[in-house]
Amino acid sequence: MTTLSLEVEKLNNFINGEWVNVSKTQAVINPATGEEIVQVPLSAEEAVNEAVAAAKAAQKEWALVPAPQRAEVLYRVGYIMKERKERLSQLLTMENGKVIEEARGEVQEGIDMAFYMAGEGRRLFGQTTPAELKDKFAMSQRAPVGVVGIITPWNFPIAIATWKSFPAIVAGNAVVWKPATETPIMAYELAKIFEEAGLPKGVVNVVFGAGSVVGDAMVHHEAIRVISFTGSNDTGRNIASECGKQLKKVSLEMGGKNAVIVMDDADLDLAVEGILWSAFGTSGQRCTACSRVIVHEKVKRTLEERLLAAMDKLTIGNGLDESIKVGPIINQSGIVKIKQYIEIGREEGAKLLAGGYELTEDAHENGYYFAPTLFTNATADMRIAQEEIFGPVVSIIPVSSFEEAIEVNNGVTYGLSSSIFTNDVNRVFKAQRDLDTGIVYVNAGTTGAEIHLPFGGTKGTGNGHRDSGIQALDVFTEWKAIYVDYSGKLQRAQIDVES
Ligand code: NAP
Repeated sequence: MTTLSLEVEKLNNFINGEWVNVSKTQAVINPATGEEIVQVPLSAEEAVNEAVAAAKAAQKEWALVPAPQRAEVLYRVGYIMKERKERLSQLLTMENGKVIEEARGEVQEGIDMAFYMAGEGRRLFGQTTPAELKDKFAMSQRAPVGVVGIITPWNFPIAIATWKSFPAIVAGNAVVWKPATETPIMAYELAKIFEEAGLPKGVVNVVFGAGSVVGDAMVHHEAIRVISFTGSNDTGRNIASECGKQLKKVSLEMGGKNAVIVMDDADLDLAVEGILWSAFGTSGQRCTACSRVIVHEKVKRTLEERLLAAMDKLTIGNGLDESIKVGPIINQSGIVKIKQYIEIGREEGAKLLAGGYELTEDAHENGYYFAPTLFTNATADMRIAQEEIFGPVVSIIPVSSFEEAIEVNNGVTYGLSSSIFTNDVNRVFKAQRDLDTGIVYVNAGTTGAEIHLPFGGTKGTGNGHRDSGIQALDVFTEWKAIYVDYSGKLQRAQIDVES
């Protein structure tokens, strides 16, 4: 097992291209071992003001750089990330806990996003359209919004940051980014990459610190015109209401209560693989994690047996060890929350088939580990089947028809991802139409997004915006309608139209 060490003991903010020391700090803990990796700054509001001032000044120049040249920086970022993929992946596993294979996948997602958004430097298409008046030209263009604020969670510390910052940069904005305090190392590494790639000073600024201080100051700063947030619903709702008061644009990507539907005609072995990967990958700490299995009663027993047999083979431990399949939970409060839901599930009358306990002995002694857990005979209205647990806990909900499966899937306040295993082509098409989620998978689990498609959810998962895909550009641009009248006289729209 490789163990990489960071060459610094303490991280600094990255403001206006300088590494700025902050005296107040907090330890960043490796959740697999309980060891300190580095100290992260706990910045005060003043750091946000400095970062915004730098971003505001830099953005004026950056917006005038032709978009294909802005994109050149992103290509260089992509190539450096590619060169450093293994280092970034190991550091990601150390700060977040996800197993190394998944960490490599997450870093690759960032690399893909760099090249994809760099390509947008030569597109950023607007529209031309005939004007209703003679000798008049009409078109629409994307314009940058100015300074954008990015607030990211700990569960995808690099991928989500790239989903937000790369489209923002290529569109001509400057960024103030507050990463999660639990996982600041990816932000530090990415800031170094921006610096090496030649991004002009001040175009990206990283301010470390608590959400309640740094995040809150960003939300309230009048010069930040967009907040792009990914995290929990409680935080997102508060941010949205504050932004609403200021008429500030806000993009929210929040929780999920994602389900895999297994129909009676499904390939059960494939379904087991999909459930295992979606439910226990990243120890269930993905926004798209499967935490409900909605199964046709005819195949429930067989599915349970095969799932239990497969769960038995899961290896749990430090994700840097290539043989490990399930890593730790992010911290002690994560463990406490999961334990509470195990109790809730028991009290509600669901039957615990496997797991349900914290792992504290031998190799698990110093980290935060929870056994992969399976409840069955859950009903759709139970709290374990309604609320986001964010851990390796899945509840099986039996149903007796396709229609009931769809209804149960949609009967939650969230709408991020859903999946159906079936070999019936009619059901496939009905399901992709009727499943009320932003992401629908057929014959695959609920997780795993490709960066050129829109990512986000319906209902309580978000507020209608999307991360990644071409749609991400809508968050970081304003549409501008431009008319050029070359008639030499005043022509009034709707009035001087010849009929
Ligand atoms: P969180 O507690 O809401 O934190 C997210 C970010 O918001 C962190 O950087 C946090 O800072 C910051 N923050 C906290 N309080 C704030 C405030 N008052 N003002 C401004 N910023 C504030 O969420 P989390 O526990 O890190 O992440 C897990 C959640 O994210 C889950 O619900 C998961 O489903 C969701 N998620 C959604 C998606 C998606 O695309 N839909 C993707 C990944 C995760 P500190 O933590 O440093 O204090």
